[in-house]
Amino acid sequence: MNKLLLSLALISVAMFACSKNVQSTQSNKITLGCGIEVTAIDDRPGEMDISLFSGVLTEEQKQAYMPGGKAPSSVNVFLVKTAGNTYMIDAGFGNAVKDKRIKPETIDGIFITHKHGDHIMGLLNEDGTAVFSAPIYVSGLESEYWLSEETLNSELQKNLAKAYEDRYKTFNFGDILAPGIVAINGAPHTPGHTAFLVGNGQEKILIAGDFLHAAALQFPEPTESANFDMDKEGSVKTRIALMEQAEKNDWLIAGVHIPNPGWGKVKSNGKGGFTFAP
Ligand SMILES: [Zn+2]
Repeated sequence: MNKLLLSLALISVAMFACSKNVQSTQSNKITLGCGIEVTAIDDRPGEMDISLFSGVLTEEQKQAYMPGGKAPSSVNVFLVKTAGNTYMIDAGFGNAVKDKRIKPETIDGIFITHKHGDHIMGLLNEDGTAVFSAPIYVSGLESEYWLSEETLNSELQKNLAKAYEDRYKTFNFGDILAPGIVAINGAPHTPGHTAFLVGNGQEKILIAGDFLHAAALQFPEPTESANFDMDKEGSVKTRIALMEQAEKNDWLIAGVHIPNPGWGKVKSNGKGGFTFAP
């Protein structure tokens, strides 16, 4: 093959890779166009209890979505490979580091959706020192809130700020954090809760953190909120808005607590709720 043919072939391969939809699916890994790969690691499989949820439904109506009063859940940590670097979205409890499914030395940066314990405890060793040598990125709003309030988790928040003090970075909604990773306003589950839109080509995935907690209940009934939502009314609006946006743009949507791998396509069900196809 001469040089011209070779370069034409390479260009068409590159264009193909960039325009094609999701290229391959393993159970917990997807390859998006333009060389971006996303892996979802379940840091702690479990269940959500019905008592955590409230809204307009009766107990009986909730039970219909949560048989036995439970819905399956996960604590997903997402790894995003882009432009030669590997970024982590949230850190879970740290189980995936302990059993070596995540190797801290391979991580180049950590983007935090919000600072609830189940998303940040994995950043710290038991003695409060840092697990990762990479920088951590938290939205300015989220950071301000947790560093100023005295909360139950304040020891955790103080340790985190101290352990990462020389590489603790803040961002604003709309910022491009890495090639193909943009910070999106996902508040007010917490004041600075962030979703991350990942993808350079046609296919994108919205990693929406805690936009919902029990997939079985809150896709069909997005007006139900978890006790963890600091602003329930606002969280209902954001939950619906993010799902509508994902449907309109044909993005995959992912949640930290949706059973692993935690992503799928949403579609309005015409009754104010959504169906979710994992
Ligand atoms: Zn959470």
